[in-house]
Formats: sequence, structure tokens, C-alpha cells
Amino acid sequence: MYVVTDDASKEVLPATGESVGADNVIQGMDLVYSQTKSGMKDAFLTLNTGEKIQSPQFFKLSLNQLRSLNKAISRKVKGSGNYWRAVRELARLYRKVANQRRDWHFKLATDLCRRFDLIATETLNLKGMKRLWGRKVSDLAFYQFVEILKFKSLKHNREFRQVGQWTPTTKLCSDCGHPNENLSLSDRQWTCRKCGSHHDRDINAAINILWAACDPVVETV
Ligand SMILES: [Zn+2]
Repeated sequence: MYVVTDDASKEVLPATGESVGADNVIQGMDLVYSQTKSGMKDAFLTLNTGEKIQSPQFFKLSLNQLRSLNKAISRKVKGSGNYWRAVRELARLYRKVANQRRDWHFKLATDLCRRFDLIATETLNLKGMKRLWGRKVSDLAFYQFVEILKFKSLKHNREFRQVGQWTPTTKLCSDCGHPNENLSLSDRQWTCRKCGSHHDRDINAAINILWAACDPVVETV
């Protein structure tokens, strides 16, 4: 994946006094590869403000097209004229989806830079996630987004921080800091046993990411 860096001229944006923590959900990160039903309803990015940013609808439409093209190819006689026509069509569609996604990543990164002086996310542990989810890692799209966000932050004079992958951000209650050791991957909402706070899993993680990014003790990269 390529990020255009030849136009690195600074376009400093006015300070907003706002900071944001952003949590990314691994499932459904890349709608081209992730075909799980549960992935579809997860946001691409959850902000500590409570905002959930969904992947655009056109990814889903393209995904359906990709599926039906793949099916069509499997029905054709391998090596025939029709077969190669369908293969070329599939390659074209993949390129189109990749370009659309990249454009959307740029727009989203610009939007975040306009709104926030400091943007914090988690580092990605691709190998660990592969093990955890036991299937093809579908978050290469998110990796691309992070690279674009880094580039944009530099351009617009924003601070971009990534919290280390070993920093607990999901299980800790963002109100009292109590860890919820029983939290499982399927728990989208939970209530803290200690202080009774009710949490949306991803918003809670986004708040913890922002806190960790602002904590001088926590190692950021
Ligand atoms: Zn609590």
C-alpha cells in the first residue's frame, strides 16, 4: 500500500483544544475479506466521544459484487474466454474498491485532523490478532488508514500517538479503573462490578486509549 508523501508541504490547521481516542474493531475492518455476519455491524472506528464511524455503504455493495463475480468465475470453464473475461472484471473491481477505500481513509483522516489536536489509537499486533481471530487478518485496511493518519497529522501539525499493544484498554473500567477479567469478545456492553458504570465496549476502550496516550508513564510509540 502506498501513501503519497511527495506533497509534504504543511497545511497547519488552527488548534481546537480537543483530543480524541479512537478504538478500531478488528472484525469487519475490511469488508472485502471479512465475510462474517457479526463484523458488519461493528464500526470502523469508535471515538471516545461516543461517535461510531461506519464503513461506507458502497463497500458493502462492492462486497456483494465481488462475491457474485467469484461465484461466476467458479462456474466457468477454466482457461476459457469467458473465464478470463470474468477474472479481468474481478481484478478491475478489486482495484476500484481499493481506490474507494483509500479515498475514504483520506477524507476520514482529514476530518479527524480538523477536529482534534491530538489523535490517539492503539498499535496493531498483526500476528497476535491472526492467532486470536484464527482467520485471515482483515485489518490491513486499518493499517493503511493509520499510515494515512500519520501522514495527515504531520501535514496538519497534529499530534498522533499510538498506545502500546500491551496497554490494557478494553478490560479496564474507564470510570474507576477496575479490571473486568470476565469480559469476553462477544460482550459488546458491560457493567462495572465495582462502580456500576455501564459501558459500551468500544467507547470504553477509546476513552482508555486517550487516557493512556496522555499518561506520561505509559509507553507510546
Ligand atoms: Zn468502574
